[in-house]
Amino acid sequence: MKKYDVIVIGGGPAGMFAAGFAAQQGASVLLLEKNRHCGAKLLMTGKGRCNVTHDEDDPRRFSEVFGRNGKALLTALYAFGVADTVNFFEQRGLPLKVERGGRIFPAKGSAGDVQKVLDRFIQEAGVELRTSSPVKQILFADQKIVAIETASEAFSADQYIIATGGLSYPETGCNGDGYRWAKRTGHALVAPEPALVPVQLAEAWTADLSDFNLKNVHIALQHNGRVVTDRFGEAFFTAAGIGGPIILDMSAAIRDALKRGKVTLLLDLKPAVSAELFDKRLQRELAVHSNRDFRNSLAGLLPKDMIPLFIRLSQISPEKKCHSITKQERSTLLSLFKSLELTVTGVGGFRKAIITSGGVSLKDIDMRTMRSKKINNLYFAGEMVDLDAPTGGYNLQACWSTGYLAGISAVEA
Ligand SMILES: Cc1cc2nc3c(=O)[nH]c(=O)nc-3n(C[C@H](O)[C@H](O)[C@H](O)COP(=O)(O)OP(=O)(O)OC[C@H]3O[C@@H](n4cnc5c(N)ncnc54)[C@H](O)[C@@H]3O)c2cc1C
Repeated sequence: MKKYDVIVIGGGPAGMFAAGFAAQQGASVLLLEKNRHCGAKLLMTGKGRCNVTHDEDDPRRFSEVFGRNGKALLTALYAFGVADTVNFFEQRGLPLKVERGGRIFPAKGSAGDVQKVLDRFIQEAGVELRTSSPVKQILFADQKIVAIETASEAFSADQYIIATGGLSYPETGCNGDGYRWAKRTGHALVAPEPALVPVQLAEAWTADLSDFNLKNVHIALQHNGRVVTDRFGEAFFTAAGIGGPIILDMSAAIRDALKRGKVTLLLDLKPAVSAELFDKRLQRELAVHSNRDFRNSLAGLLPKDMIPLFIRLSQISPEKKCHSITKQERSTLLSLFKSLELTVTGVGGFRKAIITSGGVSLKDIDMRTMRSKKINNLYFAGEMVDLDAPTGGYNLQACWSTGYLAGISAVEA
């Protein structure tokens, strides 16, 4: 049986980082990836552009977005923080840039370029990579892993790092193997749940506007008539409902609210102006077009694709002359712009979830090293650890930071 210093299972961002940095320290490292290539999920990130990290240099403030568990990420962030991530990619020929809301993307390239940098990194560090090699079993005795098995071979190492990701987008290779092994070796699991998911709506018309970008909108989540939370930013309609960053970030609250009753979303397409001011704008617009048909009066207020929908929902005859639109009709129109009501029927499952919340419990991991508290020669990294954050590059940064720390710690052990 071939023996290594470190074996890493899972070639996503966390596993590639762990393997590369361990090998850079001079360790012999084997990286086993189930798919034909590493980083299948990485290629899908940021709509193919990869939101690599978030422009927040202060580890404390960065960690706060992870909620109650965030503090546990601090050592990893101090070991390899946002500036380190930016340097890592820029020094390897991939300049990054900060975009709206502090999201950091490759300045020109795509997620594919991020993956290429990682491929080159592990290769130059001397990692032995075996793709198309799903690990089937881990064998353990006396609180130590003694070997792992793929379908055809067995390998052993002094230290093992599991970075097999969560359960979302299972077609990328994430089917929960790591969770099963963690559980079998005595680790507590915080129930994995789909997180950052799009939402299903009763309104069938969203299919006509699918992938149409709603920029700078405000959406309030209303439960039994009371506003629970709200967001400003970007969203888009999908074939079955609505998605995009602000919806994903509210999806946990939407899921909770749905368990308790009726949930609606109120979409404000013109959040920069009050309802009173926008009503005046509507009056002006209708006055300017007073002898025109209603259907020809909305071009200055709405993107072309949305005009037929607004005409339908307003129930104002498209041929009606603008000067004869009643106050009541204008009020209906105003509410479509300022508080378009959307009825939530459900939230997506793992197939559509950007990440998995829950995972290996932090109480069973020494977060100063990422080492298991149950198995002496085992480390965890990446999404399978019970840490999750909103969209914005935070989740990948957690992978870079925990992957780095696990890789370095495994060599120092
Ligand atoms: C559509 C989409 C867009 C996203 N966009 C962003 C974004 O822009 N910014 C951001 O910060 N985050 C984003 N995320 C989240 C981010 O992609 C994940 O948090 C990140 O990929 C997790 O990395 P990981 O290395 O922990 O796991 P993964 O990337 O899931 O990698 C785990 C790897 O382990 C392998 N594996 C599993 N089981 C085995 C086994 N038994 N043997 C061998 N190998 C195995 C899998 O094949 C996989 O390659 C996005 C996610 C999705 C789905």
